[in-house]
Amino acid sequence: MTYLKWFNSHAKKHKKIVDSLKNKTDDEIIEYFRWDNISKSDVDFCPLFKEGKKCHDIQNLNCYLCACPNFRFDDNASKIKSYCSIDSKNGRKLFVNEEIHQDCSGCVVAHSEKYIKKYFDRDWKRIFKRNIQKENEP
Ligand code: SF4
Repeated sequence: MTYLKWFNSHAKKHKKIVDSLKNKTDDEIIEYFRWDNISKSDVDFCPLFKEGKKCHDIQNLNCYLCACPNFRFDDNASKIKSYCSIDSKNGRKLFVNEEIHQDCSGCVVAHSEKYIKKYFDRDWKRIFKRNIQKENEP
């Protein structure tokens, strides 16, 4: 699966869930996305849910901002297919054949509710767009 396919498919799933919670407050929506809840209520949201697994083995894992808004990708790039826009010290580069991919397995920033509240928007795609725009401001 390409990054873009995943991104669009995940955006659809995210929107469907958020739409179903339209009468809830922002805080209640964020709480709904806690791994302890969403991994049982919406098993198709993430392939790990069916196996009862987490992407990061931490307490209070929240899935609202998966994937991280700092993650950048370009399926058409010849070499760097993905990277971290803030060059986090917790991220790594993964070399696969001739390609470079971002490895976020050591970074949990986007799973904390403090971070999610800072960037919260009911429109998941808009969070990414906003961040990309900010980067490109003069
Ligand atoms: S390394 Fe951390 S901050 Fe950077 S894209 Fe990955 S999860 Fe986000």
